[in-house]
Amino acid sequence: MFRIPETHPRYKSLMKREKIVAGIEAGITSKQGLIAHGRGEAFDYLIGERTLPAAFRATEAAAALLLTAKKPVISVNGNVAALVPERVIALSELLNAPLEVNIFYWTEARVIKIKEHLEQHGATNVLGAKADARISGIEHARARVDYEGIYSADVVLAPLEDGDRCKALIAMGKKVVTIDLNPVSRTSKYATVSIVDDIERALKNLIFMIKEQKKNGKGKLLEDYDNKGNLRAVINEIAERLKDEELR
Ligand code: ATP
Ligand code: MG
Repeated sequence: MFRIPETHPRYKSLMKREKIVAGIEAGITSKQGLIAHGRGEAFDYLIGERTLPAAFRATEAAAALLLTAKKPVISVNGNVAALVPERVIALSELLNAPLEVNIFYWTEARVIKIKEHLEQHGATNVLGAKADARISGIEHARARVDYEGIYSADVVLAPLEDGDRCKALIAMGKKVVTIDLNPVSRTSKYATVSIVDDIERALKNLIFMIKEQKKNGKGKLLEDYDNKGNLRAVINEIAERLKDEELR
């Protein structure tokens, strides 16, 4: 990996790029994933590369939803595996929820590489290689899931997900938590709870909040959680920040 000096003002952002590039070189991240990351970066610049207050509230709601799930599953794609293997594994242990490799540009070889990558980081329960079930309503290859995993889950954490698949999971009656820096993506709009934040920051907060909620009794259930209202709040916070931006 290219060494970025910690004093560089864009250190964190550049390190993420290095991880994505390393993911491509290791065969776990797709080339298209590089472009998706760039779109995320652009939104993060507008957000100010920190967690917005509305994103904190969404993360709290997500923590409660995941904690009260009967069968939560964490979906992992090539970008997630490259950026935050330790954090998805920690979350999987906290929630007692399996990780499931679920990729848009599906090849068996890449599924196995991602699974092995997660296992090298200490994961013990990684699904996705069986691909013995299908999400209904989307075309063949992208629909592959494990029967024991996403197919039979009640709550799916699907970060950096495609809008189509998010919609299809919702149509199957599942609750979907997503993490997506784009507040107007189809994924953000369809999900039950959308966290508009960078995946590293969002998972760090989510892990912290789940630990807190476990200690203090489960979070309040959110039958009436207003995802679109939260997205509107995010957009307002971004707009206010941009209005205040000093152009020096
Ligand atoms: P849709 O509108 O169908 O939801 P999309 O156009 O958003 O799809 P995808 O390629 O499916 O595009 O997903 C990439 C999404 O992931 C983008 O919206 C991008 O903002 C987001 N993203 C990329 N990198 C990160 C990251 N590090 N943290 C959080 N979100 C990210
Ligand atoms: Mg998306």
